[in-house]
Amino acid sequence: TMDVSTIEYFSSYEDLEIHRLMLEDFPRTDAYRKAILENKSYFKDKIVMDVGCGTGILSIFCAQAGAKKVYAVEASKLAKLAEEVIKENNFEEIIEVLYSKVEDVILPGDIKVDAIISEWMGFYLLHEGMLDSVLIARDKFLKPGGEIFPESAVIYVAPCSVPELYNKWNDFHGVSLSIFAKHLRSSKSSKPEIMQIQKEDLLGPEVAMAWINLREDTVQDLDSYTIEHVVGASRSGEYHGVCVWFECNFPKLNSNNRVILKTGPESPATHWKQTIILLPEEQLVDEQEPIAFQLDMNRDQVYPRRYNLQLSLLDPEEVEHPVPCTCHMTKC
Ligand code: SAH
Repeated sequence: TMDVSTIEYFSSYEDLEIHRLMLEDFPRTDAYRKAILENKSYFKDKIVMDVGCGTGILSIFCAQAGAKKVYAVEASKLAKLAEEVIKENNFEEIIEVLYSKVEDVILPGDIKVDAIISEWMGFYLLHEGMLDSVLIARDKFLKPGGEIFPESAVIYVAPCSVPELYNKWNDFHGVSLSIFAKHLRSSKSSKPEIMQIQKEDLLGPEVAMAWINLREDTVQDLDSYTIEHVVGASRSGEYHGVCVWFECNFPKLNSNNRVILKTGPESPATHWKQTIILLPEEQLVDEQEPIAFQLDMNRDQVYPRRYNLQLSLLDPEEVEHPVPCTCHMTKC
């Protein structure tokens, strides 16, 4: 039995345009392809589970890399299509499609898998809440010491300027609509904008606000993240809000470089773009001026697949103990 919002969630994945968008997202698809096909010695003879196989592409990468068995789990009707795609690629002996929510899957003889692969990421990483299902699958099906692709993820935040959302209204077909634009922004200030920004639009270095370890974190760990941060503006400009993006790290299984899927403004664009959270009022900042903010990301009580992103301005003087970066990434 599924509630209405769960039914809606899975039927949204029956739109083939969504799958085209994901498949054609080169940094995304290529990161998975590299993480799998450049680790053939790892995948050889392994048992793998693909959580949310969609068209089946990641399961097929695993079979191409030499996996002995792949359980391709898909709760939407795409499961039927995946079966045909798998046949088209002659992997029906290796890949078994399970048309089910992963939460409801029972594997024959309580088999455990060597690796879980999944593309679960949403806007600002956690939108859609699909990571919950991956963690549940991990606890149910992954052998101790098994691998998860990707194995960790980091959410970054940086102050930014978004001139596209502001400048055009100052002279719109010869009319100044800045008052209208101001009301428009404040009417949806709690609703983040999904857009690609330029690296020049960042007003300071990013800070990691969440470091998610897919091997260890629990579903509850994903409920709430917060960061208080002070940063010196890297240039003078209009401080409009913060830009949020994420990176996913795949397991490093051989001497090659680790595959990292990056979605920030300095990396090639992906379908996730970046998530911009606007301040109710823009601020002018000078170069070196301290910018202080707090960002809270809390799972919605009613719709657990959504998060509420709340940006607050802080007085730089009052952020006495800037939170040091405790994440384990070399970048910070
Ligand atoms: N792996 C594919 C599709 C990724 S999109 C690719 O990389 O192109 C995520 C897919 O996971 C969707 O098709 C969605 O229907 C499915 N999904 C999400 N949650 C699921 C769950 N709990 N059980 C099974 N499938 C799920």
